[in-house]
Amino acid sequence: MEEMRINKYLSSIGVASRREVDRLIDEKKIKVNGVLANAGMKVSEKDTIEVAGKKIEKKETKLVYYMLNKPKRVISAAKDDRGRETVVDLIKTDERIFPIGRLDLDTEGLIVLTNDGDLFNKVIHPKAEVYKEYIATVKGEIKSNAINKLASGVDLEDGITLPARVKLIKTSKNKSFLSIAIREGRNRQVRRMLKEVGHPVVDLKRVAVGRLTLGDLEVGQYRKLTKAELKYLQ
Ligand code: URA
Repeated sequence: MEEMRINKYLSSIGVASRREVDRLIDEKKIKVNGVLANAGMKVSEKDTIEVAGKKIEKKETKLVYYMLNKPKRVISAAKDDRGRETVVDLIKTDERIFPIGRLDLDTEGLIVLTNDGDLFNKVIHPKAEVYKEYIATVKGEIKSNAINKLASGVDLEDGITLPARVKLIKTSKNKSFLSIAIREGRNRQVRRMLKEVGHPVVDLKRVAVGRLTLGDLEVGQYRKLTKAELKYLQ
């Protein structure tokens, strides 16, 4: 195998996503041939790599892909420093999987987990144009000017949001339901957008990532992606 950047190499063999590898390097948790790794370095199968003190096996990793209906109060990470339950804890597998992107603690719904680090960039990067669709329950009667604003761009403290696809499902004096699909993944973005237009979120659920949909998967349940579903993401 040819040499490649360490983050690409470790993600290709399923250790972690590229971004996660960069973080581990910053935290001085990766060694190559006994020496601390740096972000730009190139490695190959010939090198001995340790991650958090554990030697990485070079055997081919079987790539696995799951979808989970994340319950509220479960953390979207592989591990939690405070020992709280994570999305990875809910899935029985021997592979070292991690979630593709994050859902807030109080957000429920579709999350993909895999040991394929390359999938991360394909799904998460705004340039990938993968829309993530949420069903939001919000306070108050939402009017068309708020909907237009959500769709065209909301001015948040970290910049104006990219155009979103917004559909009103139902509205009444106290509560409204809408579908909102965004292709960015800023922290608490949907909640912040809705608050900014005057309709704080009461409940938020992700129902689709690109063409992959949650379907009738119950909260807390998971299953492997089918080949066709995987193609939707690649
Ligand atoms: N936007 C949010 O506000 N929360 C999520 O979990 C995902 C997107």
